[in-house]
Amino acid sequence: MRLAERALAISASPTLAIDAQAKKMAKEGIKVISFGVGEPDFDTPQNIKDAAELALRQGKTKYTPVAGIDELKAAIVNKLKRDNGLDYDPADIVVSSGAKHSLFNVAQVLVNPGDEVILPSPYWVSYEEIIKMAGGIPQIVNTREENDFRLTPAELEAAITPRTRAIILNSPSNPTGSVYTRDALEGLGKVIEKHDIAVVTDEIYEKLIYDGMDHVSLGSLSPALKEKTVLVNGLSKSYSMTGWRIGYIAAPTRIAKAVADFQSHSASNANTFSQWASVEALNGDQGPMIEMVKEFVKRRDYIYERFVAIPGISCRKPNGAFYLFPNVSFSFGKRHGSDLIQDSTDLAAALLKKAEIAVVPGSAFGVSDFIRLSYATSMENIREGLDRFEKFWNELD
Ligand code: PMP
Ligand code: GLU
Repeated sequence: MRLAERALAISASPTLAIDAQAKKMAKEGIKVISFGVGEPDFDTPQNIKDAAELALRQGKTKYTPVAGIDELKAAIVNKLKRDNGLDYDPADIVVSSGAKHSLFNVAQVLVNPGDEVILPSPYWVSYEEIIKMAGGIPQIVNTREENDFRLTPAELEAAITPRTRAIILNSPSNPTGSVYTRDALEGLGKVIEKHDIAVVTDEIYEKLIYDGMDHVSLGSLSPALKEKTVLVNGLSKSYSMTGWRIGYIAAPTRIAKAVADFQSHSASNANTFSQWASVEALNGDQGPMIEMVKEFVKRRDYIYERFVAIPGISCRKPNGAFYLFPNVSFSFGKRHGSDLIQDSTDLAAALLKKAEIAVVPGSAFGVSDFIRLSYATSMENIREGLDRFEKFWNELD
C-alpha cells in the first residue's frame, strides 16, 4: 500500500522514541536512568484528581463545545489576566488535547504551502515537523550559546523574507532552559511590529522559572503585538498533567474561530473530565505547583554544579524549564571501548548502551554539539545517573 508523501516526510518524535526505548529496557529488567523525556515525575496534585473524579461521578462524560467548556475558558481568561497581564475574551480561547495539538492546529490555520516559519535553533523537536505537516518551510535561525541561545533582533530582522508567515518563540525554552527577559522581548517586538507576520509564543514552561526571573508574555508588551500573537500554553508541565492532554491557545478571535472550526472536524473537544480537572488546576490551590518548582530548583542546581565540574564540558546555567543542555563536543573523535563517538547521536547511543542512561542528542533540536538531559526525575536517579555519566566520560580515549 502506498503512503502519502506527507507521511513519508515525517519522522517520529525522537524524545518520545527515546522514552519508549528507555521504558522497554526497564521492562527487560535493565535499570536505565532516564534523562530522556521532558515529563515531570510528580503525581498530579490530589485536588486536581479529585475534581476529575467528581466530574466522572456527576456524569460529565459527554461531548463539550469544541473550544472547551465555558468554566475552563473563564479560568484561562482569569489566569491570563492574573499571571500575564493579558485581556482576552472567552471567544479568543480554544482548548485542545495538549499544547502539541494546539500548535498543530495553529500551523494548519496560519501556514500556506511554501510559507516560511522562522524557528530559532535549538528548537523543540516537534515544531519543525508541525510546520512541515502544514506545508510550511521551517526557516531555521541559529542562536548563539554566548547569547544564552536567545534570538537577537538583528538575527530576526535578517531572517524575515516576503514569504515569512510566522515565528515561533519558546520561553522558557525546551531544550536550552533559556528565558527571554522583558528587554530581549521588547527588542524582538520592535522588529515584529514592523512586519506582517504572526508570532506563536509557546509558554508551556512559564511556571518553571528560577533565579527570580519573571515570565513575560510577548502579547502583553503592546496592543499591536497582542494582535499578532497566538499564545500557546498547557497544563502538562506546570501541574504535572502530561497524560491529561490539555493545552490551549489565546489569539485574536478570527484565528481562534478558525482553530476551533478546524478542530471541529478532527478531535472535536478535548477530554471532558480533563477539562473539569483543569478548571481546578487553574483556579484551585497553587501550593503543590509551587512545591514542585522548589524541587526543580534543587535538582537544577545539583545537576548543573556536577556537570560544569566535568572536564571538557561547558554548560550554561538554565533559568527555566527542566533541561540541562551541555556542550559535549569534547567527546567527538574519541572512543569508548569499541564505540567511536563522532557526534551527539553516537554519544547518546553509547551512553544508553554502556552506561544505561538515556539522554536526547542535540541533533533532535537542530544542533549537534549538545545533549539534553531532563532533570524531571528523582534526585536519587540524578545522582546515580551522573555517577554513571562521569565514569563513562572518564573512560573515553
Ligand atoms: N511545547 C514544548 C516546548 C514542549 O516541550 C512540549 C512538551 N511535550 C509541548 C509544547 C507539548 O506539551 P503537551 O502536548 O503535553 O501539552
Ligand atoms: N516535550 C517533552 C520533551 O521534549 C515531551 C515529549 C514530547 O512531546 O516531545 O521531552
